[in-house]
Amino acid sequence: MSPETIPGATPDPADGKKRADTTAITNIATLVTNDPSLGSGPLGLIQDAAIVIDGDRIGWVGPSSKAPTTDNRVDAGGRAVIPGFVDSHSHLVFAGDRTAEFNARMSGQSYSAGGIRTTVAATRAASNNELNANVARYVREARRQGTTTIEIKSGYGLTTEDEARALTIASVHTDEVTYLGAHVVAPEFADHPEAYVDLVTGPMLDACAPHARWIDVFCEHGAFDGDQARTILTAGKRAGLLPRVHANQLTHGPGVQLAVELDAASADHCTHLTDADVDALANGSTVATLLPGAEFSTRAQWPDARRLLDAGAVVALSTDCNPGSSFTSSMPFCIALAVRDMGMTPDEALWSATAGGAAALRRTDVGRLSPGARANLALLDAPSHVHLAYRPGVPLVSAVWQDGELA
Ligand SMILES: [Zn+2]
Repeated sequence: MSPETIPGATPDPADGKKRADTTAITNIATLVTNDPSLGSGPLGLIQDAAIVIDGDRIGWVGPSSKAPTTDNRVDAGGRAVIPGFVDSHSHLVFAGDRTAEFNARMSGQSYSAGGIRTTVAATRAASNNELNANVARYVREARRQGTTTIEIKSGYGLTTEDEARALTIASVHTDEVTYLGAHVVAPEFADHPEAYVDLVTGPMLDACAPHARWIDVFCEHGAFDGDQARTILTAGKRAGLLPRVHANQLTHGPGVQLAVELDAASADHCTHLTDADVDALANGSTVATLLPGAEFSTRAQWPDARRLLDAGAVVALSTDCNPGSSFTSSMPFCIALAVRDMGMTPDEALWSATAGGAAALRRTDVGRLSPGARANLALLDAPSHVHLAYRPGVPLVSAVWQDGELA
């Protein structure tokens, strides 16, 4: 084929390296681009659409009848194509299992932050190979369900060596790596939490900063208070890391206000919010990331997405995948919960699980399907993205392309 048939395509490079193939996916009943300039509404919807993958990028989108000539062609058969999900909050570097804790909680006990220490003991005892294999398994599991970008946190090591190890392993699987030495106070420091903050902001930070893009803190009763969280996030910023915050999950607290004050990319959970918290999120540049898997798995009060959206806040949806409070890697499951129980429309939930997650990671190359974006997309066994909430629990993702490759 001729490169001239693909707008924006370039001829073979002079070094003789073969130019990447182009692939057109045609006969798409509903294409979600998340680019309002390309289609209708905030999702930039195009009916009877086609999309061209050019190497690792999107080369063209438009009506199926006008699809350009390409090397390869895939007939979507009247199904929907969406951007790959952007899961901006997960804790995948862990070992062990907390089935017993979940079982007890579903038998009437309430969740407490201390359960994290169970996973800390198992994670410290695990080999590098075991931890790496676990991360690979859960990343694959998420990808099968349409996730093409995933953030991964440390936070189950809580020593300098174990936190740096977790970040090194996470960075094998993603560019979105978050230092969460401040998940809970390490058990060795239970009687001296200030000494643990000194460690997290001192030698542990020095060892971890080279391996991470982000710094996070669990700002909550039983974890770190507002002053400690400010100290930790400020130290992280000085070391070149960008802040994000576990905020207002279990109780009202200072986390959301602190996140906005420090220009954090995201305040995550946002379950217990005052009007002032909602105003701060609506007027700041911090995304409100909602994690309904946690409320589902702990039988807790749902975050009120409707209230945040109506106020004008940017909302993301993520899994919070972790072995204690939300052991799901499924973004479609989170979409279904958000629509059923958090007041989101199916369109809003799809946007929040894709473009919203990208905003929470301050990324513009993912979460949308417009020319130049990464070719990260999912083909659904359904004519529309609405089926993700309409048909909860059904494995509708039938194919996933990541960076242009069929995964
Ligand atoms: Zn979390």
